[in-house]
Amino acid sequence: MSVRETVESPRAADSVASGAFEMVVGLEVHVQLLTRTKAFCRCATDFGAPPNTNVCPVCLGLPGALPVLNEHVVDLALRAAIALDCEIHPVSIFARKNYFYPDLPKGYQISQYDRPLATAGRLTTDATGETAASTVRITRVHIEEDAGKSVHDRFAGVSAIDLNRAGVPLIEIVSEPDIRSAAAAGAYLRALKQLLEYLEVSDVNMEEGSLRVDANVSARPVGASTLGTKTELKNLNSFSAVERALDAEFARQCALLGAGQRVMQQTLLWDAGSAAVRPARSKEESHDYRYFPDPDLPPLLVDRARIKRVRNDLPELPAARKARYRETFGLGAYDADVLTAERSLGSYFEEVARAHRDSKTAANWVMGEVRAALNARRLEIDRFPVRPADVAELLDLVASGTLSGTAAKRVFALMAETGDRASQIAAREGLAQVRDDAALREWIEQVIAEHEPEATRCARGERKLLGVLVGFVMKKSKGRADPKRVNQLLAERLGV
Ligand SMILES: [Zn+2]
Repeated sequence: MSVRETVESPRAADSVASGAFEMVVGLEVHVQLLTRTKAFCRCATDFGAPPNTNVCPVCLGLPGALPVLNEHVVDLALRAAIALDCEIHPVSIFARKNYFYPDLPKGYQISQYDRPLATAGRLTTDATGETAASTVRITRVHIEEDAGKSVHDRFAGVSAIDLNRAGVPLIEIVSEPDIRSAAAAGAYLRALKQLLEYLEVSDVNMEEGSLRVDANVSARPVGASTLGTKTELKNLNSFSAVERALDAEFARQCALLGAGQRVMQQTLLWDAGSAAVRPARSKEESHDYRYFPDPDLPPLLVDRARIKRVRNDLPELPAARKARYRETFGLGAYDADVLTAERSLGSYFEEVARAHRDSKTAANWVMGEVRAALNARRLEIDRFPVRPADVAELLDLVASGTLSGTAAKRVFALMAETGDRASQIAAREGLAQVRDDAALREWIEQVIAEHEPEATRCARGERKLLGVLVGFVMKKSKGRADPKRVNQLLAERLGV
């Protein structure tokens, strides 16, 4: 069947309330594993290297080159599969997935097909404002290699090929069609991303393509038990794009079904600009991959001891950490949620809290100022120049009264800008509160000399002038004097 160039979409008048239909979604997530070298050769995997520099005969697909499995790939894939409660298979098979594409020099991708590493897992998501807690079954987790990249925007009129990514290890995590709304799809993806980040199997960076999502979506009458015809959505570059694309595609399918038309099974590309789907070209849609076992790779054998070792080495997972934050640091549910959303943010908070001791203040600062600074700079916390010890030092300065709350925010802004320490900035910018009596008395004497009439009237009993004189001292100190102490010293000096 040929693919039509436009997506069937009935007139608006034909559309029926989508309330009559239920959305059914399954997600396929490709995750780039955090290895230093590729899946079947020893080329580096770093993102952003000059084009076609991380390549060798194996990943270029030169004749006679033989792949050798990177065992670290297996450990990371196992870690994810075990954390997703999957059944791990003692024997799995690498297959060749054959298709022609310019960025695929071998003409096939090494993947796992009918005998994947792991099957039958699940992922439970917490309740959010929009969605109830739910469990999504995981169909499979398998290992595969990535293809290269076609680059269309580098040279006018021609496409370029970068093969640095060819052979980079991925796992594909396929869910059952258990998801019933766009918001639930978002919740599943956020929970999955959080889990993978905690497991340190991937940097889960969507912008760099370390995490890619395809969605299968269908509509069926509410209460029906059979599945409707599904379409596959691609080109989803963010979780919000996934949610918007699902809603748009579901509405389109509901309108078709409500008008008595059929949904055609096809691959659709999400166009964020026009907020609509369009059909993929047929070559992007070929499903005849003619899989067969790769004759160059032996079956992957995973014994019980290895599974046990990986299981024992699993790091603390989000739910456990959340409970620990509530217990150890006395945080409320909301704070614990926010601070455990990302493992790295939580670790940052822990360091601040241990160094500063007042964990509630530490939590407020990390959730407030630190996160705002990261968002403003679009920075990951690992690259944030202000380290936890620096934040703790700043909070210590506030706790000791050296810095006022307002001055602390100004100091923090400069810390984020320069990477300098709080005490350095406070001194350099003259933001430290002055509480040294000698310095304060000096300003007071100057003010009395400059405003003798007011000082005399105040000393004779016009007590309300005391506030005015304190104001002059504050101005002279450029706001650094401790106003309470100035008030005391001035009252003493004038005998009021
Ligand atoms: Zn290579």
